[in-house]
Amino acid sequence: MVTLIVPVYNEERSVDRFLDAITPVLAALRPRVRVEILFVNDGSRDGTERIILAAAATCDDIALINLSRNFGKEAALFAGLNHATGDAVIPLDVDLQDPPHVIADLIDRWQGGARVVNARRRSRDGDGPLRAMTARAFYRVFNALSDHPMPADVGDFRLFDREVVEAIRQLGERSRCNKALFSWVGFEAEEITYDRPARAEGTTRWSWWKLWKLALDSIFASSTLPLRIWTYVGVAIALAALCYSAFIFAHTLIFGADVPGYASTVILILVFGGMNVFALGIIGEYVGRIYTEVRQRPLYIVRSHRHAGEP
Ligand code: UDP
Ligand code: MG
Repeated sequence: MVTLIVPVYNEERSVDRFLDAITPVLAALRPRVRVEILFVNDGSRDGTERIILAAAATCDDIALINLSRNFGKEAALFAGLNHATGDAVIPLDVDLQDPPHVIADLIDRWQGGARVVNARRRSRDGDGPLRAMTARAFYRVFNALSDHPMPADVGDFRLFDREVVEAIRQLGERSRCNKALFSWVGFEAEEITYDRPARAEGTTRWSWWKLWKLALDSIFASSTLPLRIWTYVGVAIALAALCYSAFIFAHTLIFGADVPGYASTVILILVFGGMNVFALGIIGEYVGRIYTEVRQRPLYIVRSHRHAGEP
């Protein structure tokens, strides 16, 4: 069985359209796999819940989790991963930007042995130029800072085998950026490409502010470099300060003081300034390590294990 995880937030006008589009795809798949649709209602304030319940009354393959308020898509997706019962899961959006016909391709690859299948969008027709540009900039910064780069143009629309879902669920952090976690758990990913259409209805539920917070969360959750960089900056400043102090000291000895007190004041400022930044860097090293510890990520994830004497 495969579980589709569909987070929904104020999507009363999209749900029926989504179900209409997806039903024939699931019917075609039925001889091979059973597909269950798990809606995660992320605190919608419109008729989303009512519409899903009405659909669930006529179809056995629809499940619904209601969150108590809007927790954001990342949390909703995690709730879905925790409650999904399928042997594989596919998170997808309700707005038909993740086209249902791609699901069959994902499942084909999974049945061919892949444990992660990424769906890469060939085009971003759905997004404005500014969105596309900021997205590219984000991936560039993220991949420069993080040890585990995430593929650009692959959203949450992927297939994970049960084994990978369990690995993702093991990661202990509270502030979760799914895409970063997906790349952290590893496993070789196969890839298929598709054209991303524009949103079927309404406008994006991601405000610029939410996106900005997600970008910061992703970067700070995946890299302690911004904290630790100050050790090196501090050392550089302290060295430069030392050289300049030596110069001022010598200059004052040889040529005398132009302004009384200048040399001693400037030397004090430089030395303490450099020491401050250096000390911040040292603290950063510790804070970075504390952060790594409190996340309680597993030390490793086993991909497979051949026991002695197995055929
Ligand atoms: N969504 C959600 N909670 C939120 C924001 C969005 O569950 O706080 C859902 C939304 O209903 C949709 C999916 O996440 O199914 C993707 O949202 P959207 O299409 O607005 O994002 P975009 O395609 O612009 O990235
Ligand atoms: Mg969308």
